[in-house]
Amino acid sequence: MNYKDYIRVIPDFPVAGISFKDITTLLQNGEMYKKAIDDIKAMVSHLQIDVIAGPEARGFVVGAPLAYALGVGFAPIRKSGKLPYETIEVGYDLEYGKDKLAMHTDAIKKGQNVLIADDLLATGGTISTSVNLVNQLGGNVVGAAFMIELEALKGRDKLPGVEVFSLMSYE
Ligand code: 5GP
Repeated sequence: MNYKDYIRVIPDFPVAGISFKDITTLLQNGEMYKKAIDDIKAMVSHLQIDVIAGPEARGFVVGAPLAYALGVGFAPIRKSGKLPYETIEVGYDLEYGKDKLAMHTDAIKKGQNVLIADDLLATGGTISTSVNLVNQLGGNVVGAAFMIELEALKGRDKLPGVEVFSLMSYE
């Protein structure tokens, strides 16, 4: 049973030249979705984790069930203007485009150990911005976990000192 058999690769989405890795075909299989979360949980079992933080929207699909499985809290990282309470924001470049991410100022308590989770690591822009937000709130990023890593884009290089975990990688 190979995880990649459950990923649908869409050429030229959302723009020409991008080979999009569609995880919805994995998510629709309950057994594989559960196995993915259980396998990520096993990969991070040596870490002391207080909170999972995940960027919208697919970071919720990975981060929230992982938080439930670990019995820890979940802190959403959202696009600017979506969170109702006081926020901090950081701007970033995407693999395609630009955006801003935000967190509630009380989402992480000072000194908490945070694992960041998302579906996919590409250039690392989203996750390095997430690390930046967590650090600004006084959290300690102990790792970053993904279903997929696009190795050629060298996202890991943007995450010095952060342990990176992924279930599958593409060149
Ligand atoms: P990065 O910021 O590392 O360049 O891009 C990663 C972010 O963009 C993730 O939040 C991810 O959801 C989204 N993303 C970029 N490329 C893909 C892709 O091929 N498949 C999926 N599922 N998400 C992608």
